[in-house]
Amino acid sequence: MNTEFDYLIVGAGLFGAVFAHEAALKGKKVKVIEKRNHIAGNIYTKEVEGIQVHEYGAHIFHTSDKEIWDYVNQFAEFNRYTNSPVANYKGEIYNLPFNMNTFNKLWGVVTPAEAQAKIEEQRSVLNGKIPENLEEQAISLVGTDIYEKLIKSYTEKQWERPCTELPAFIIRRLPVRLTYDNNYFNDTYQGIPIGGYTQIVEKMLAHENIEVETGVDFFANKKDYLASYPKIVFTGMIDEFFDYELGELEYRSLRFDTETLEMENYQGNAVVNYTDSETPYTRIIEHKHFEFGTQAKTIITREHSQTWKKGDEPYYPVNNDRNNHLYKAYKDLAEKQANVIFGGRLGHYRYYDMHQVIAAALQTVRRELG
Ligand code: FAD
Ligand code: UDP
Repeated sequence: MNTEFDYLIVGAGLFGAVFAHEAALKGKKVKVIEKRNHIAGNIYTKEVEGIQVHEYGAHIFHTSDKEIWDYVNQFAEFNRYTNSPVANYKGEIYNLPFNMNTFNKLWGVVTPAEAQAKIEEQRSVLNGKIPENLEEQAISLVGTDIYEKLIKSYTEKQWERPCTELPAFIIRRLPVRLTYDNNYFNDTYQGIPIGGYTQIVEKMLAHENIEVETGVDFFANKKDYLASYPKIVFTGMIDEFFDYELGELEYRSLRFDTETLEMENYQGNAVVNYTDSETPYTRIIEHKHFEFGTQAKTIITREHSQTWKKGDEPYYPVNNDRNNHLYKAYKDLAEKQANVIFGGRLGHYRYYDMHQVIAAALQTVRRELG
């Protein structure tokens, strides 16, 4: 048994970093291993041409929890960025999330009452049925026109399955408003860390009690690690940890095509969603707009959604009934593994945002160390 460290943390993403930081503050010695060649997991950002590039997709921090907001602000100063993506449907531009600007452009309605009436009229195709899948949920929230133009194809590209086979909660992530407010989130606090996200994780891990090694895969030496560390915090895929013995959970992967362009402003917005079925990517990110950049060049990333297969990066859990059921069986196995704590988006198999990951990590470390 390794007596030098109290914890081995597998994964230098946000969950692992918060846990490591808090444990180190409590005097615990922590070793962090990360299989990628950099820290910060999916929130990793890298400066290119003076622009912070979100290497694993657009990341906007948002929360209504003051404790979490104060917590993250210890590690970075946040700017005033408010996410207001637009949807491009065959060249027509609509504001997101679904709000009076969207309804006005689509139907010419001007007042909330007119918009409400239009939604009511279109929702009647459900005959009062309680929504049981994403399609029914979407029609119930915003009617058939918006479902057809802004939701159906985007969602089917993103998840590669019919909206009738997807859980309703996915679309409930998006606000629907009868006001002219293009803020994608309802949360009290929102912003982008000035200077990028990587510094947050760097500062969390910069403690004399923490040792970090990148380019190291837990599975290359699983047996040894289990035998030689008193406690392990595992933030990788829970089914992989158990060698898929109960079957494979499903994930969605992504491909990011990034390009530097010799122009100042490509699309006029940080995020443009392509909601038609023909465009092969789901969205284009123009990174400089997260920080109101004025550089002469710009960097854009086209995000393609892909079926996950072994060896790919698992970006999204697919939380339908089948997978949630299987996850529950893995969770039962995990509970029997006394010296391993599972955490994060992959360890908990949950569609967590950053603020939820921080909250979950703080809760876990407090349960563990008081
Ligand atoms: P990760 O960041 O995935 O970290 C896990 C780490 O473990 C990884 O670095 C991985 O390489 C490592 N690892 C895995 N297996 C092993 C192994 N066997 N050995 C060693 N290391 C291993 N959240 C928001 O709040 N706002 C947003 O706008 C937002 N946008 C997003 C956009 C996209 C495209 C995606 C995919 C996610 C987005 N999120 C957003 C969610 C956010 O990325 C996550 O909540 C957060 O990064 C999860 O942190 P984590 O530590 O759980 O996981
Ligand atoms: N969505 C959509 N059209 C859009 C944006 C989102 O139909 O223009 C749906 C889609 O099903 C997506 C879900 O809303 O999976 C959640 O969107 P969000 O932007 O929260 O997804 P993420 O940033 O996590 O990929």
